[in-house]
Amino acid sequence: MKIVDLSLTLSNEVTPPQGHPHAEVTSFKSHATDGVAVSIITFSLHTGTHVDAPYHFIPGATKIEQMDLSKLIGPAMLLDLRNRVAPQQAITVDDLYIGGWSQNVRGKIIVLFSGWAEQNWNKQNYYTENPYLSEDAANFIAGSGILALAVDFPVDGCSSFPVHRIVLGAGIPQIENLIHLDQLPRDFMLAAIPLKIQNAEAGPARVVAFIDEKSTISDCSHEFVNY
Ligand SMILES: [Zn+2]
Repeated sequence: MKIVDLSLTLSNEVTPPQGHPHAEVTSFKSHATDGVAVSIITFSLHTGTHVDAPYHFIPGATKIEQMDLSKLIGPAMLLDLRNRVAPQQAITVDDLYIGGWSQNVRGKIIVLFSGWAEQNWNKQNYYTENPYLSEDAANFIAGSGILALAVDFPVDGCSSFPVHRIVLGAGIPQIENLIHLDQLPRDFMLAAIPLKIQNAEAGPARVVAFIDEKSTISDCSHEFVNY
């Protein structure tokens, strides 16, 4: 079993959503003066790798502390959209199919791989020139029976956040700002476990892929090596 960490390192360098403060990690106690290291962090819950709960856009909906973890730990499928995306362009239902969408998505965490976060996570244009999902694609995803939607790009292209409203409105949590997706096969297990913060709409998460290496080994397997 191979483990791949899909999380950004949370720091001042990570671009926050427009208008949100940068994350600030400060030393509260240090080895030099206190004999112990203790840090304090201040940040918007939407900075870096995190999970959005439906309550983010839907009043009265599930908050992060109430999230059913069976939606965030489970079989995952990667859709490679790298040849279909461009800055400020909508990703369509056709793009999803070309990326590998099929009936098999039901009951899975679907991971949309654009390459955007890997290249732009610390750049100013992260939330302004990003590829995004069309409203049709969002409605299509919302009706598909997936467990969760995981992405490496901001899903909305305008400030009224139609995609967030549609996807979260269907009770589908969003796992956002992933990296290292180029290290994944099409099928794997994923765990995105957000911090359990009272009354919150989101939680920072360490997101990890578990790859069954047997499933990725080609037909010429080790069994023949000792002949
Ligand atoms: Zn968010």
